[in-house]
Amino acid sequence: MITKEDIDRIFDAARIEEVVGDYVALKKRGANLIGLCPFHDEKTPSFYVSPAKGICKCFGCGKGGNSVNFLMEKEKMTYPDALRYLAKKYSIEITEQEQSPEQIQSNNDRESLFVVSSFAQKHFSENLYNTDEGKSVGLGYFKERGFREDIIQKFQLGYSINHRSAFSDIAMATGHKMEYLVKAGLTIEYRNDREHENETETNEQNQEVKYSDRFWGRVMFPIHNISGRVIAFGGRTLRTDTKKIAKYINSPETEIYHKSDVLYGVYFAKKEIVSQDNCFLVEGYTDVISMHQAGIENVVASSGTSLTHGQIKLIRRFTNNITILYDGDSAGIKASFRGIDLILEEGLNVKVLLFPDGDDPDSYSKKVSSEELKDFIKNNSKDFISFKTNLLMNEVKNDPIKKAGLIKDIVESIALIPEAIYRSVYVKECSRIMDVEEHVLLNELNKIRSKKYNEKRNQTSETAEQQQTVDEFVLEEKKEHSIADAEHQERDIIRILINYGNKEVRVDSQEEDGTPIEIGVSVAYLLIHELQNDNIVLENLLYNSIYNEFVAQLENNFIPDYNFFIAHENSAIASLTVDLMSSPYSLSNWEQHSIYITMEEDILKKSVLNAVYALKSRRLEMMIYDIQKRLKENPPEEELIQLMQTQHQLLEAKKEFNALLGRIIVK
Ligand code: ATP
Ligand code: MN
Repeated sequence: MITKEDIDRIFDAARIEEVVGDYVALKKRGANLIGLCPFHDEKTPSFYVSPAKGICKCFGCGKGGNSVNFLMEKEKMTYPDALRYLAKKYSIEITEQEQSPEQIQSNNDRESLFVVSSFAQKHFSENLYNTDEGKSVGLGYFKERGFREDIIQKFQLGYSINHRSAFSDIAMATGHKMEYLVKAGLTIEYRNDREHENETETNEQNQEVKYSDRFWGRVMFPIHNISGRVIAFGGRTLRTDTKKIAKYINSPETEIYHKSDVLYGVYFAKKEIVSQDNCFLVEGYTDVISMHQAGIENVVASSGTSLTHGQIKLIRRFTNNITILYDGDSAGIKASFRGIDLILEEGLNVKVLLFPDGDDPDSYSKKVSSEELKDFIKNNSKDFISFKTNLLMNEVKNDPIKKAGLIKDIVESIALIPEAIYRSVYVKECSRIMDVEEHVLLNELNKIRSKKYNEKRNQTSETAEQQQTVDEFVLEEKKEHSIADAEHQERDIIRILINYGNKEVRVDSQEEDGTPIEIGVSVAYLLIHELQNDNIVLENLLYNSIYNEFVAQLENNFIPDYNFFIAHENSAIASLTVDLMSSPYSLSNWEQHSIYITMEEDILKKSVLNAVYALKSRRLEMMIYDIQKRLKENPPEEELIQLMQTQHQLLEAKKEFNALLGRIIVK
């Protein structure tokens, strides 16, 4: 039991912005802060923190509350565990005693795994300083590797005694349940005759012993989650006499350790990632630690797994820029290629630096000074196109077929980038470096994109998550059109009105009694009806006057066509009409060949809706843009809340439009 007084003291001490700040990169907006919601995946911040009120809230998914609620939700903690966590964070002594075995047992499962993991970390660290074996073997090894004392302590490195159950024995003697030791991956239970993971030669003893430590006789690297709690371990053997033992072993997947969503070092790096607006990605524990020792702290490792989408999403909470730092051997090159594509796909910017063959950041940092290392990274990081090109150009030499292959390879990477604007920047870059004309690259790029697009659309057995990727894909795809030119959509509306205004399309309607029927309406009617519904006025004065002419004439039951406008007394209208009928821009490629004219008529209704939704979506975008501009000006709290709510609604509406747009793609 935690007393009422202690609870009050904890609530007084807890600062919501600090508690949330362990998980979210927060930006100040006036007296409040905003950031990307840690409860759902998003790219525009809708998570709001009010230090004055001590609360946080997401305008997207609705989750939030005070510090304790936040931890309960985010870490799946019980109420008392959240309080204990805060008490510890703010060094508040609570009158509750050390947790008794009964209390440990009564913790919920997840929390129990944290408890045993934390116990294990402390135990391994103590071994390093308080046992002869730990001092000579473990600490000796770290010192020999050149790790400084402060770094060893910062990363809470440790040592597991070279006895198969040393850790588990002590853990159980101090009240930790076998069940949780096993679930946390620290202890391995096995049947008498079974081999177990960590050793090969003590079979005789197997008859009596029913459990063993997963890690023994190893130096230990605890793995922390984003808020700094220990969730798993990596252990490196110090034996050199046998090749049969894996150099590194890692905790298995557990309830608190989902490998694909964890990055080694993220807790120690997140602050610096935000302030540098860049994240270095390395391969292993020792790389992260050596970089810290050299004064570079914005570094994480995808230790134990190859890079995953979940890990990149984790980085995206703090920055949009990743630099991959790998060993320049062939495995490193292969891994960096995979990494590049994965990062591009998540919409982040990626640079790459390979260390000289045989060196990783750990070994290289030992050969040079801190300054030299920083300079080396700064001067040798390449954007991914230069990187791939430089690396592969040697093989290509003057072989045109190989060169074509390389170009295709690079364009395939570019095609993964969700944002059109960035794709076009990279196409330019690629065109320059490879000396290929831009339109050739664009052609290839579009082929790949539309193939991918069709593949995604044709997936029949879609999970919800896949559906979301498809929607996002469609959304980004359409953004291209809507951002390109505000005027473009208005012009398209007028083009359709003038060329097809009097054509009939079928739409769904209802009889008076509610029976659904299909009726025919003119394109002009449908278009104007749709725009008037949302009070949309065209901003371009010329377009607007043509539009108004349609509105007025429609009231007289007359639908003007291009003949009407060509003969218009306003010569600007007349000449625009000619343009819209004849210029390749306005009539699109379809109409350069007569066969395509019938095609556009066939898909007229789709074209109309497409034009309307594109315009509406563009308008929404401009409204969202205005809100974001205002948000940057640190508005007062009430306005901030209002703005974020509106922003959320607009984003939702835009998503709907884009989904509609996606469904009526005509090409
Ligand atoms: P050495 O002293 O022989 O160079 P090392 O401890 O530096 O050994 P490397 O083989 O150089 O290890 O590997 C570099 C990094 O890769 C290590 O820091 C480690 O984190 C990571 N690593 C290697 N193998 C594994 C593995 N099986 N699981 C997880 N991480 C690994
Ligand atoms: Mn090494």
